[in-house]
Amino acid sequence: MEQQRLTFPTLSDWGLDTTRPVVIAGPCSAETEEQVMNIALQLKESRTQIFRAGIWKPRTRPGTFEGVGVKGLKWLKRVKSETGLKTTTEVANAKHVYEAIKYGVDILWIGARTTVNPFIIEEICEALKGTDIPVMVKNPVNPEVEPWCGAIERLQHAGIQKIAAIHRGFSSYSETRFRNSPNWQIPIELKRRQPDLPLFCDPSHICGNREWIGEISQKAMDLNYDGLMIETHHNPDHAWSDAKQQVTPDDLEKILSSLILRESGPGPNGFADELEQLRSQIDRLDQELLDILGRRMEVASEIGRCKKENGVIILQTQRWDQILDRCMQLGKEHGLSDEFIQKIFRAIHQESINTQTRIMNT
Ligand code: PEP
Ligand code: MN
Repeated sequence: MEQQRLTFPTLSDWGLDTTRPVVIAGPCSAETEEQVMNIALQLKESRTQIFRAGIWKPRTRPGTFEGVGVKGLKWLKRVKSETGLKTTTEVANAKHVYEAIKYGVDILWIGARTTVNPFIIEEICEALKGTDIPVMVKNPVNPEVEPWCGAIERLQHAGIQKIAAIHRGFSSYSETRFRNSPNWQIPIELKRRQPDLPLFCDPSHICGNREWIGEISQKAMDLNYDGLMIETHHNPDHAWSDAKQQVTPDDLEKILSSLILRESGPGPNGFADELEQLRSQIDRLDQELLDILGRRMEVASEIGRCKKENGVIILQTQRWDQILDRCMQLGKEHGLSDEFIQKIFRAIHQESINTQTRIMNT
């Protein structure tokens, strides 16, 4: 479907200082009034502008901490009046919206598990009608841009103007070092379609681990994101949810002060985005190449087993000549030189022989 370019108020229309990065920090979950106030008072001294805390927590498994519920909203109200920080929490249904607005939460966010579901988004939009509260939309769990755009469009149709997107990574079937694979090309595509939409990165949920938060935050800055949402706790290891990915307010400061901000990007406009797109294509192709090489070696093992059972020798030079001739021929059709094909296929063939030799000797 052809995407219409939408207009969005800027973060300064939300009453924020737009010096990059605009920082949202605070615990994954509000746990106790003391915990919330302790963290908020420390963050008041930092460059954090928005205090986050989950009140209703979506958890993968039942029986884990599911949030303190409505009583936590009173604590957020206290944060607001005693620190001057703006507050934000996640809403996942209409009742959450009514309650959060009733207690004066400044900004709402829609979580990854909600963005995927147009029925719930509609229900939330219905509850938001007639308000002008800013809403941040996390990317959907599945690696697709369409549901993300869809949720944003539904909010606009409901009359919500102040909208931002939060990139928190995507679930992925293959193992990666991240809890949620960043798939940078998806937020880049969102930004291509909607250049005015403010964009935050949530490195905590991408990494699942506090070690790489600095690295991902830097990357987000290099891609010209407007802000960061970083889970921050006074005692991260004892947090009731997402303990591994939270940092202390001191560590948050260290991460923020080590960021290098390249204001206009390393080249002409769009250069960084285009490069990132191309690099992610290369990463996907490399992955495919490796899958194919792995499958080729499995077939080579089968050939080894077959030769062993039939008492046939491994190296059959005629066959190898045929492979090479055929591949050089096919390579030409793809603009690949004979020299390159010979190099690659010699290495592949050698590895096949090694595999077959191992099988012969077992
Ligand atoms: C969170 O921010 O704590 C959270 C649950 O987020 P997500 O929807 O990204 O999982
Ligand atoms: Mn969390």
